[in-house]
Amino acid sequence: MKITDIKTYIVSPIPGSPWVFVEVETDEGITGLGECTDYRSGPMLVAGIEAVKAMVVGEDPAHIEEIWQRIFRQYSSLSGRGFISHLISGIDIALWDIRGQVLGQPIYKLLGGPVRDRVPLYTHIQDQWYDGVTIDDAVAAAKQTLADGHDAIKTDPFKWQRSLTGEFTGADRVEYLSPRAIGEAIDWMDAVREAVGPETELMVDAHGRFDVASAIAAGRALEHVNLIWYEEPVPPESFKALRQVRESTDIPICMGERHFTRYDYVPMLEERLVDFIMPDISWTGGISEMMRIASLAEPFYVRISPHDALGPVSIMAGFHCSMTIPNFYRLECLHTRFPDFAKIMDPMFEYEGKWINPTDRPGLGVALNHETFDEFLVDPASEHARAFR
Ligand SMILES: [Mg+2]
Repeated sequence: MKITDIKTYIVSPIPGSPWVFVEVETDEGITGLGECTDYRSGPMLVAGIEAVKAMVVGEDPAHIEEIWQRIFRQYSSLSGRGFISHLISGIDIALWDIRGQVLGQPIYKLLGGPVRDRVPLYTHIQDQWYDGVTIDDAVAAAKQTLADGHDAIKTDPFKWQRSLTGEFTGADRVEYLSPRAIGEAIDWMDAVREAVGPETELMVDAHGRFDVASAIAAGRALEHVNLIWYEEPVPPESFKALRQVRESTDIPICMGERHFTRYDYVPMLEERLVDFIMPDISWTGGISEMMRIASLAEPFYVRISPHDALGPVSIMAGFHCSMTIPNFYRLECLHTRFPDFAKIMDPMFEYEGKWINPTDRPGLGVALNHETFDEFLVDPASEHARAFR
């Protein structure tokens, strides 16, 4: 079997959330589906896949590791971590989909088989930095989320802040949290905790926005909320800054959506900087790399909880890994988007409340519905392709 072509599509059934899908075609009529969606980067990713295509067309799609290593090493001067690992992810997921279809097996059965019957999710309520969202909105959303069958919720309770010197500039975009801003965030979290009760698992995402002093002050103020984790309290580049936050707070920390491949995780784990890790399967190097990062974390007794705020293929790739990873917490989702996923998928994955259920369908077990998704196609040259909300 040979790879004959790679096609990319930007599709957006939700305005402001353009997803980037990858289809790897073969000479035996089997097509593999992948995803490498990122925020605002659709046109770059489409161009990137087009650029690496020549390295992949003509290869045997069963040579997943060879293709992974070839793309990673070929572009080492760009660093394989980040843009290149996004490209690898889209192709790697599609190659695993092809492998499963060829063997007639769901991918999770090829990764070692299930260690659980189904995969638990955590989901989101809207973040406080969205314009006009109030504490009452957060409380209502949290109650509705429990009614929808979920028991673990993440939110970002911090409004957009200015830097300490005033207005944002390109050179000073790391945010400063005033005591008042921290107070507003605590009001938000206390209201959510009150609404959902002590049993519901809560997480706070700081989106890598804050300077060290702000991250420490907010972390200390959040300790009483009894969070599962405090996510990306500082920007991703400095592990020394992260260590300072860790040593100055008593709150579990999760990092990883902006860290790519096993190479970024070695120092994070060895220096004991995290309690949970959260690689994104469409950014960190696909199914192959998610499994390697999970194994890397296992001897440190650190759980993995794949980041996923993207489209329906990404979540299914994460689902197959999550079925078979022992040191797993939950798979992230935006459950309110599932009806939009169904508009462009046939078959769609099977979910019920906080669970995604396995099927015996081969490969990923989902496919793009080419009958319906044309309506949602986005021109890579358009402004919409770079949109994000
Ligand atoms: Mg996050």
